[in-house]
Amino acid sequence: MLPFNKPYVTGRELSNIAQAHANGHLSGDGPFTRYCHEWLATRTRASRALLTHSCTAALEMSALLLDLEPGDEVIMPSFTFVSTANAFVLRGAIPVFVDIREDTLNIDERLIEAAITPRTRAICVVHYAGVACEMDAILAVARRHGLHVVEDAAQAIFSTYRGRPLGTIGDIGCLSFHETKNIISGEGGALLLRDPRFAERAEILREKGTDRSRFFRGQVDKYTWVDVGSSYLPGEITAAFLAAQVDEGERITEMRKAIWNRYHAWAAAHEQAGRLRRPVVPAHCDHNAHMYYLLLPTHARRTAFIDGMKALGIGTVFHYIPLHSSPAGLKFGRANGDLPITDAASESLVRMPLWVGLGEFLERVLAAADAVLERLPVAVTS
Ligand SMILES: *Cc1c(COP(=O)(O)O)cnc(C)c1O
Repeated sequence: MLPFNKPYVTGRELSNIAQAHANGHLSGDGPFTRYCHEWLATRTRASRALLTHSCTAALEMSALLLDLEPGDEVIMPSFTFVSTANAFVLRGAIPVFVDIREDTLNIDERLIEAAITPRTRAICVVHYAGVACEMDAILAVARRHGLHVVEDAAQAIFSTYRGRPLGTIGDIGCLSFHETKNIISGEGGALLLRDPRFAERAEILREKGTDRSRFFRGQVDKYTWVDVGSSYLPGEITAAFLAAQVDEGERITEMRKAIWNRYHAWAAAHEQAGRLRRPVVPAHCDHNAHMYYLLLPTHARRTAFIDGMKALGIGTVFHYIPLHSSPAGLKFGRANGDLPITDAASESLVRMPLWVGLGEFLERVLAAADAVLERLPVAVTS
């Protein structure tokens, strides 16, 4: 079975981990963490970057930084991973779900304003598949209504919007280094801050509500409990693994792009024949080849495609079950009107395998997909 995902290792992770042990510093914020912080801040132009143990943790930190209170509302897409909503629900805030665009499957910026109420505090956008949301329009709405913008950039490292790195266009950005993402540390993430005014408090929240970071810098002579907080920092073993990955980040992205481009060229003929729809990347968005997906015309055909590929030994997967109609979404959130594009994408999207090293198997994947697609009924009237 050819897997849907296979974590890539550069070869330097284990020697970095041995080095972390030799350094005698295995808890958080050691030399490898500092290395990753500097790399991230430089690469994304964030005023501050802080490693976390997941993107979920970074999203939770963003909810704390915004001082959200029970009943506050956060506008977000329903077509996303659960953490986008959970981070805010944990503060008692209410996710307000709006529909996505038909082309990029990102939050539809034209629907945001109508979802704003006196309780709205923030907009949390998700850059789906590493392709940017329409940030200029979203920032304009946020400015008009005095709202914060959080970017769930879990999938979007190295992607840009009009030349600006994703995760540093809104107030706060959240990255993931989970093993299914482009650059990995098993579990891992980062908080990116565009505006330095959040930086000092972010350090405190991340260090159990203490001013320990100031203490380590020699700015205070003892550290103490100064705010709410939790433990959001990864240990040095995780940072050491990540350091090996960030060093090869550009190369990893290029290798993924070669596979993405091959899929895209292959799928063009099937799109013309009406068998599927390809992803759309607007000209002003540079993407990171995080994901290659296909949209099949119906749910039945999506199921038949996944089953057919599996029978030929190739793993493909679908996502997301929409949050607005999930048990927790119904309990904690609310949808602003119907979300037909979210529902349709959820039923018809299939993700193709995409990992470094897939190249040598790619023609086999495409031949299998050709065979399966040609066997599916052709009528596209539904
Ligand atoms: C992967 C992902 C997350 C969660 O990332 P973790 O690092 O596993 O917490 C959140 N949001 C989106 C859109 C994701 O793709």
